[in-house]
Amino acid sequence: MDEAPNDSTAPMLKLAIHGAGRMGQGVATEATSRGWRVQGLVSRHHPGELGAFTWYPGLEALEASAGLPDVLIDFTLPAGTVAAARWCALRQVPLVTGTTGLDQTQQAALRNAAQVIPLLQAPNFSPGINALITLLEQARDLLPNVQRIDLLDVHHVHKKDAPSGTALALAQALGPLEVGIESRREGEIIGDHSVTFELPGESLSLSHHAGDRRVFALGAVEAAAWLRGRPPGRYTAQDWIRGGKA
Ligand code: NAD
Repeated sequence: MDEAPNDSTAPMLKLAIHGAGRMGQGVATEATSRGWRVQGLVSRHHPGELGAFTWYPGLEALEASAGLPDVLIDFTLPAGTVAAARWCALRQVPLVTGTTGLDQTQQAALRNAAQVIPLLQAPNFSPGINALITLLEQARDLLPNVQRIDLLDVHHVHKKDAPSGTALALAQALGPLEVGIESRREGEIIGDHSVTFELPGESLSLSHHAGDRRVFALGAVEAAAWLRGRPPGRYTAQDWIRGGKA
């Protein structure tokens, strides 16, 4: 544990949140319940009801009114993430982003920013999925004669990207084995992933079900506390989890 947020000697984390949707609002609630200060939520469009939280139409407006945060947490869309990375790099603000669906050019923009700020990018902040990544790496090395690997990603109908960022990360953990990914978008499902290894005469399945978005939100807040004070560079959820939670 690098820094204890509930320890009265630890300085209070000052967070700003880019994105005021399902995840942004969840992050604001989790951060507040941990006693951290949320300066405000920034998004292109006013989200409607935000309770006691302050909304800003842009990062410049946040800066002018509330000053710079210790860490910015981003859950927007890829273009928003790139804008956030550039804004953070110019101001030396560490960035945690959970936004998925970035293309190669957008990933390169994040790599550039990570030369001057600590930047943690994770397609999934849940402890369960990050354990699954480790289990898949082990299964890949343990299982002989894998004939086929099927990965199923099921999410709510509002999700913009397919396959999910999590599905891509799970497939990457299985490299160089080939993985067939199927993505389904149904109702309000928060996120279900399953991986099945087909072997001669047997099969092995590993699956994860997210039942509450709060696990992602809390993970992002913990990752932000862990990231503060780190040297510039690109960090993953695995770095944060293996390096010790805040
Ligand atoms: P959402 O649609 O509910 O909210 C998106 C918010 O971003 C909105 O407030 C919108 O106005 C704002 N936004 C979009 N583009 C913007 C821009 N260019 N500049 C400023 N604001 C912008 O979406 P959500 O469910 O909160 O998900 C957001 C992202 O987080 C998605 O990419 C999703 O896949 C990802 N996600 C990641 C995790 C994880 O654990 N890493 C978990 C859930 C969702």
